[in-house]
Amino acid sequence: MEGECAIFNDVISLIIKSVKKLAFIIKNSSSKVKQGVFAIVAVIAIMASLTFTGVRLAYKVNYSGNIIATVSSKKQFDDALALVAGLVEGNEVSSVVEKPNFSATMTLNEKINSTNEVATAIIDNTDEIVKAATLMVNGKAMACADEGFINRALNVRLNRFNDKKFECTNHFVKKVECVPGYFMVSQLDNNRKVEDIISSLSVVTEVNEVSDVVIPYESIIEENDEKSVDYSKVKVSGVSGVSRTTKKVVMLNGVVKSSEDLGETVVVAPVNEVIVRGTLRNPATAAEMQQASSAGFIFPLPTGTWSVSSYYGDGRGHKGFDLRAPSGTSIYAVANGTVVQSGWNGAYGYCVIIEHTNGMRTLYAHAKQLCCSVGDTVSQGEVIALVGTTGQSTGNHLHFEVIVGGRNVNPGPYINIG
Ligand SMILES: [Zn+2]
Repeated sequence: MEGECAIFNDVISLIIKSVKKLAFIIKNSSSKVKQGVFAIVAVIAIMASLTFTGVRLAYKVNYSGNIIATVSSKKQFDDALALVAGLVEGNEVSSVVEKPNFSATMTLNEKINSTNEVATAIIDNTDEIVKAATLMVNGKAMACADEGFINRALNVRLNRFNDKKFECTNHFVKKVECVPGYFMVSQLDNNRKVEDIISSLSVVTEVNEVSDVVIPYESIIEENDEKSVDYSKVKVSGVSGVSRTTKKVVMLNGVVKSSEDLGETVVVAPVNEVIVRGTLRNPATAAEMQQASSAGFIFPLPTGTWSVSSYYGDGRGHKGFDLRAPSGTSIYAVANGTVVQSGWNGAYGYCVIIEHTNGMRTLYAHAKQLCCSVGDTVSQGEVIALVGTTGQSTGNHLHFEVIVGGRNVNPGPYINIG
């Protein structure tokens, strides 16, 4: 504003100077013709200086109590009014626009508003005209309301059927648009009507159902014939993998219309566990052989019914031999003795222990049925139990141990296997 005043002062002082100079010349002139010429020259000079400095006559527009713009002419205001009439939907614009008052003013050219600016000023200062939007469905205007309100309601409707667990995309079945514009207040619909229209719009929702499943790792046994049978070591630790399946589900207003498997991909491959297990069975020493043969044991199962499924010391410090045999196969006492246990024994399941001479004991585990009692004297070959899979066992078998002086020994030499 200060700049404008300074220019104004300059212009006025220039005009005053010019007029004074001309007045002096005219005063000292003798001829009336000369005076006339000077007067015309003076007017041209004033006009020229005004034009040169960009100052010109204009009108301030007083509209509904406010100065809303500066126009070059009253026609410019009418042009702006025509522009408003074109911008606003509906044809009653003229009935709500007030008659302005114009007051003449001298102003700089650049202070004059453009016709567009005047139109905007008219809209801003007319309460009956508002900025809003039309809700269009398949090209047809359905309602008119605040643009933000329409967009929020459309967004709520679009996301209505989303599955929060998965990534979803959605769209309306019909072409839905929110077109901003200027409206008469009387044209606006109430929000309830807009909500009702929007909540009746059909929505297609596509859900990308992604689910992860654990892939268990496998255990691979690597046999090593240089390591003893009691050797077992994890060479590679097992790591579970992850498999991901993707399914595309299409819903119409939340009702599933199609479901398509997009396949399965291994996101993390499992790493198989590798266990090195020794297979070398240490041959019994001469002393052990001697002791074993002097014990005079017979085999604890009938010929042809059994096979070895696990040796003494195998992998996990196995205390005996596992002899696979059908359920119900007779188990024999390997020598004469006294039954010191016949009953349930935790991981051994139903179990018989016989005490022989020389402080030797034999143990028979995982029985299906027991055929002797504690304190019974049994003879070599007598049926003491039947093969089963009780206790910690994964199949029908006899777990057989030989205990000498309270310590487990390799039963192999005693029953002629290994
Ligand atoms: Zn066993």
